[in-house]
Amino acid sequence: MPDHQWRKLRQAVYQRDEGECCYCYDKVELFQCHIHHVLPLSQGGTNRPGNLKTLCVDCHQYRHPFMLDDVKRIGEWPG
Ligand SMILES: [Zn+2]
Repeated sequence: MPDHQWRKLRQAVYQRDEGECCYCYDKVELFQCHIHHVLPLSQGGTNRPGNLKTLCVDCHQYRHPFMLDDVKRIGEWPG
């Protein structure tokens, strides 16, 4: 998806989740938060808000220990 569209979407998810990580309930800044795909795109997940959760960096790295490899592979944070 185009970058500007993703930025809008992640902001919508962030606001729905009231700026909190869905796992540890820590407050997280919009520019720092990660948007997590509940069902990964690689497994048929979608970019619909129902499949997206706001996570802090720590929780997202815990969910995706290999995320850094993804970043290298696709050149962006997978969300
Ligand atoms: Zn967290």
